[in-house]
Amino acid sequence: MIKAVVFDWAGTMVDYGCMAPVKGFIEGFRSIGYEISDEMARKPMGIAKLDHTRAIAAMIAEPITEEQILEAYRIFEETMFADIEQYCDVLPYVIEAVAMLKRQGIHVGSTTGYTDKMMEKVIPAAARQGYTPDLCVTPDQVAKGRPYPYMMWQNLMHFNLTDPREVIKVGDTVADIEEGKAADCWTVGVIMGSSDLGLTRDEVAVLSDEELKSRKAAVRARYYQAGADYIIGDMSSLANVVADINRRLELSASHKLLTPGPLTTRSSVKRAMLTDHCTWDDEYKAITTSVMDDITHISANDSYATVLLQGSGSYAVEAMINCLVAPDEKILFLVNGEYGKRMLTIAEDSHRDYDSLVFDVTRPVELEAIEQKLKADAAIDVVIFVHCETTTGVLNPLEALAKLAKSYGKKVLVDAMSSFAAYEIDMLNLDIDALAASSNKCLEGLPGLSFVIAKKSLLEASEGNSLSHSLDLNDQYQGLYAGGGKFRFTSPTNILLALRQAIDEYGKEGGLPARRARYQKNHDVLVRGLEELGLHSLVDPEYQSYIITTFDLDGFDFADLYAILKSKGFIIYPGKLTSTPTFRLGNIGDVYPEDMEALVKAIAGQMEDLSRKG
Ligand SMILES: *Cc1c(COP(=O)(O)O)cnc(C)c1O
Repeated sequence: MIKAVVFDWAGTMVDYGCMAPVKGFIEGFRSIGYEISDEMARKPMGIAKLDHTRAIAAMIAEPITEEQILEAYRIFEETMFADIEQYCDVLPYVIEAVAMLKRQGIHVGSTTGYTDKMMEKVIPAAARQGYTPDLCVTPDQVAKGRPYPYMMWQNLMHFNLTDPREVIKVGDTVADIEEGKAADCWTVGVIMGSSDLGLTRDEVAVLSDEELKSRKAAVRARYYQAGADYIIGDMSSLANVVADINRRLELSASHKLLTPGPLTTRSSVKRAMLTDHCTWDDEYKAITTSVMDDITHISANDSYATVLLQGSGSYAVEAMINCLVAPDEKILFLVNGEYGKRMLTIAEDSHRDYDSLVFDVTRPVELEAIEQKLKADAAIDVVIFVHCETTTGVLNPLEALAKLAKSYGKKVLVDAMSSFAAYEIDMLNLDIDALAASSNKCLEGLPGLSFVIAKKSLLEASEGNSLSHSLDLNDQYQGLYAGGGKFRFTSPTNILLALRQAIDEYGKEGGLPARRARYQKNHDVLVRGLEELGLHSLVDPEYQSYIITTFDLDGFDFADLYAILKSKGFIIYPGKLTSTPTFRLGNIGDVYPEDMEALVKAIAGQMEDLSRKG
């Protein structure tokens, strides 16, 4: 939640139109023989006043000596001091806005371009009208004024704050916005009474609606270009801004996602997204190629290639089925959960010749039945199955299934979405033809990119198989490899950069063995903890993966459990079984055994409040 709002002074809280300095600068430059316009006097408004004097001097065509600058500044100060108190009128809605902040327990800080000496007059004059901020920082008190963030930092220090996203900077000049942005705080530009608008109340009163509208639009455009987060007419809108930022902060409050994607990711991975890149840039293409190579080498060698594909995991599964199975080949799908079923839909919709064996969802698929089927139906060319069925958390016996299918000479394609990078999948030795996975499961990248790892020979022989152009893996492969890492269509550049970072993090952690060990530990802590609370996992431990676990709700209401755990910072996942009310907990992503302990504790603390409906 917002903890402090830091206001500018002149043009924002006092001195409608920010008139005092303008008059001062005109007098100052007149004293050294130059008539400057209002506009020139205003242009650098907001920065420290001596810097401001220099900035005006730089606008004058003739060279101005340092001596002249200091003289202009001396007269500026003199003029300011003489009648600054006449320019301390508090702006409309300021008193109400500050009272609103105080009621919410929000600190009221301030920064200014004025000197300490000037503020000695301004602060009491504002106080007489009812405005007194908790703190005022001037450029005299720090190494540099705006646009440097030091005055903002001084405010943060004073209020014992560490997170700049809990602080708003409000001002009436581009320099104010820049100061706030340099400090990484939220920034708000105020239009009416601003130096940027540059009009007195009387001047505003006689403007036509049309004229005022166009002048306000010009101010808005300058604030927008400077990067203001919010632009308001006057202080009566500040309450809405605070409420809206609080809503956004709450929405982005860090939750541990105990779901199998999207999942909790490291901040370094999210930060990697913060650059705009284009698809055809050589540097970017090299990153794309490195990502594909690194993925290939997690499960295979250079006789395989990784083909990245825009879209979630299902896109890769569909592309794999559509492209790596020839139109005249018959598929056998092994199904023991929703993801297996989804593949049937894909095959159905693309008019494939297929058959399926459907098994109990709480158990792995059965080798014996599969062997019988392979014996009975010689027309089958391809066997496709899900490695870890995320529906329940059941792990299918990848090695045995691959060996069995291969012993009958079948092509083997695997949906390894939720197991890739956490379970050893030796594609080479098992002779697995292809697998599909995504950036947003055990690689702990962000959602939006998926991939297929396949034998190069298979990819090369797949031309013309796909009925879809966008999902044509062969075409995508040609594009990405012949083009040196160039996507055929717009690449999700930010997501790819995040995936590059995620793969680096994977290596940093210790690769597959380290990730497996962490997930295993997460899973153990979770299951043991919940068992102690009387919540039992549904799948026999023998068949259970360390990716996601299904628990019996045991009479609890899922919506209640979800809401309570969300308020404690955990997001859980509904169950998918039709027979029993269940919930699921994923333990992949940037989560650790301590998080699992915290979750168990959170559930334990709420056991009595949770209504048992059974
Ligand atoms: C996540 C997942 C997918 C892909 O689902 P999307 O919603 O398309 O990302 C496919 N198969 C399995 C086993 C999965 O866990």
